[in-house]
Amino acid sequence: MIMKRLVILGAGESGCGAAVLGKAKGYDVFVSDMGGIKPAYMALLEHNGIAFEQNGHTESLILSADEVVKSPGIPDNAPLILKLRGQGTPVISEIEFAARYTGAKMICITGSNGKTTTTSLVFDILRRAGLDVGLAGNIGNSLALQVAQQDHEYYVIELSSFQLDNMYDFKADIAILLNITPDHLDRYDYYFQNYVDAKFRITRNQTGKDAFIYWADDPVIDREIARLRPQATLYPFGSSRNNIAYTDGNCLVVAAPQAAQPLRIPLEELSLQGLHNRQNSMAASIAAQILHIKNETIREALTSFPGVPHRLQYVATVRDVRFINDSKATNVNSCWYALEAMTTPTVLILGGKDKGNDYSEIDALVRRKCHTLVFMGLHNEKLREHFGSGFTTDTGLPLNIIDTDNLQDAVRGAYSAARPGDTVLLSPCCASFDLFSSYEDRGEQFMNAVRAL
Ligand code: ADP
Repeated sequence: MIMKRLVILGAGESGCGAAVLGKAKGYDVFVSDMGGIKPAYMALLEHNGIAFEQNGHTESLILSADEVVKSPGIPDNAPLILKLRGQGTPVISEIEFAARYTGAKMICITGSNGKTTTTSLVFDILRRAGLDVGLAGNIGNSLALQVAQQDHEYYVIELSSFQLDNMYDFKADIAILLNITPDHLDRYDYYFQNYVDAKFRITRNQTGKDAFIYWADDPVIDREIARLRPQATLYPFGSSRNNIAYTDGNCLVVAAPQAAQPLRIPLEELSLQGLHNRQNSMAASIAAQILHIKNETIREALTSFPGVPHRLQYVATVRDVRFINDSKATNVNSCWYALEAMTTPTVLILGGKDKGNDYSEIDALVRRKCHTLVFMGLHNEKLREHFGSGFTTDTGLPLNIIDTDNLQDAVRGAYSAARPGDTVLLSPCCASFDLFSSYEDRGEQFMNAVRAL
């Protein structure tokens, strides 16, 4: 029998996982990375006897593939991908590949914001309920590696639009779509509908036996549901009582038909605070009820979940100034929710690598809650233009602007502008790559600088 050639582009967590699984399933596997491969991943490949190259792609070794697994970081219009497509070679995502080799139930979460939080919450509930569950997608070990080494009965998977782009036969048993707001437009020809279409791929192949949980108050989701009429059974959540989950006065109510009784939790008891986290909590609870998990278990999880680092993470209080690290806010909408959750006057630190942002979305909240903005980036021109002269706050005073190009100056500037009782919020609206290696790096450096004040 001739072995099929599987080429993996990108030797990160997902690529190396796919390589190990491919090898175990009898493929002739080759891994290629444009950059350097991390030592731990190199060791994994070597240990499994998998051929690889780094710091460049050798076309002849790649174009000979029967199938290609592409890292979500590589754009669809990269020249090599276009060549592969041109010659008819299937290019798929690691999740698509791994799912062929497991019969597990798939609970998949996507949206512009809240994916990691909701994924972690669902995982936490399922684990508390004693289910054999793995966490995969953008967090934890890759799905492929788990399928290869220690398969589970359930997977909770965080899916980005880039992963969804290269999924075809995959089916989510339970799909969650949290929201859709403009993000990553640089990867979608600056055409919002392309990004919307990618997100809706989460409903692909679903039938009436599968569940589609979504935020009913999102105008984009609402419009697309009317247009696309997904086959799955619909589980909307949002403000109206017609939804499966909603808020009723001071209570969160979740009432999927699978539950013996509706779940009611006072909002103040939810461990994740803020409007956005209410939505995340509703989505996670519906998924749990669909899986027949007891309300008591869901309640326990929702009231004690510790949160995820770099998402509205409390850092410290220095001389009565609270510092919050929301470094993961890499788009304008997530900053909106962070500002919405602020209960004191706020000094907002924002800036970084702009992804085609429209800052007017946060104008009203900035006017209402901020007296100072601190720009932190190598290119602050767009921020200066938007919030510069003429931008007044609701107090009638002009907005105070501190313009910096490094974290130390930003933190010191924010601290000196803050008054006792204020909050300094790092919620940048932007990617971190101008000054940092990742949003985690940005968050860690921020927390260290705060602790050194
Ligand atoms: P993602 O994985 O989609 O990037 P995270 O859970 O990591 O989402 O949260 C990213 C940012 O978005 C955080 O700054 C957080 O405060 C904010 N956020 C979380 N959930 C939501 C939501 N449902 N709607 C809007 N913003 C949210």
